Amino acid sequence: MRGPRYLFRFDDLCPQMDEARWRPWAELMERFGVKPLLGVVPRNEDPRLMRGEMPGFWEEMREWQARGAAIGLHGYRHVCRAQGRSLVPKHRWSEFAGVDGATQRMWIGEGMRLLRGEGLEATVWVAPRHGLDWETVAAVRDVGMGVVSDGFGERPYVERGVVWLPQQIAGPVVKADGLWTICLHTNTATDGELREMEGFLEQNQGWITSLEEVGREWGMTERSWLERARGWGAGLRMEMRWRVKDVLSQPRRDGRGFAARRDA
Ligand SMILES: [Zn+2]
Repeated sequence: MRGPRYLFRFDDLCPQMDEARWRPWAELMERFGVKPLLGVVPRNEDPRLMRGEMPGFWEEMREWQARGAAIGLHGYRHVCRAQGRSLVPKHRWSEFAGVDGATQRMWIGEGMRLLRGEGLEATVWVAPRHGLDWETVAAVRDVGMGVVSDGFGERPYVERGVVWLPQQIAGPVVKADGLWTICLHTNTATDGELREMEGFLEQNQGWITSLEEVGREWGMTERSWLERARGWGAGLRMEMRWRVKDVLSQPRRDGRGFAARRDA
C-alpha cells in the first residue's frame, strides 16, 4: 500500500476575488511547499465571485505556475444558468452541463485563449459546480487539456481520452490510501478552517502531492466494471440529495409546504 495522497485544488480564482482571504491560504501553501491546482476563471461574470480587486492577480498566478502549480480552467464566465444532467451530478445548476456542444467548445477555446494571453497554460479542466457532460469532455480533449478534475473513486483513471482525477473532499480528512483532491474556496473559508488545514499539513506533509507527481506515480488505466458500477451508484446518490432537498423546499400550492412548516 502506498498510503494516501492529497492534491490541493483552489476554485474561483479571478482578479475580483477577496485578496485578504486568499493571502493566508497562499502563504500556508508556500510554507509547506504545496504545488496546488489553481482553478482560474478566465472571464468572471459571476457576481458571487466579485469580492474585491486584486491588481496583482495575473502576475501572482504566473508566479505560482513557475513554481510548479498546475493551472486549471475553471469554466468561462462562471455564470451557472444551465441545468443539464452532469456526469458528476452534484448540483442542479451549472455553467456547462446541457449547453450545446458548439457553445461549450467556443467557451473553452476562448477561456484557454484568455489565459494564454495572461501567460497561463491550463492543463486541467475544473468545471464550475461539477457541471460537465460528454460534450464538455470532448471539447476539453480536443483543445489539448488532457485532465479533468472530477469523477468517481479513489484513483485517477482514463476515460474517453482524458485523465480523470476525482475530486472528493472539501477539507482536511485523513485517509488510509488513495488519491484525494481537497477542493477549497478561499472567498468563503473561515479562519477556523485555515487553522485546521495548518494542523493537517503539519501532520500529513509527506502525503501531499501535485499534478506532476500524480502523473509519475499512478498508472493510468480505464476503470473496471466494478469501479464503474460504484461510480454510477455514487452519482445517483449525489443527484438524489439535491432532488430531495428541492422537493422539501418547494412550497405546496396551499402555501403550506415543508419549508413553510419548518419556518413556522
Ligand atoms: Zn467555482
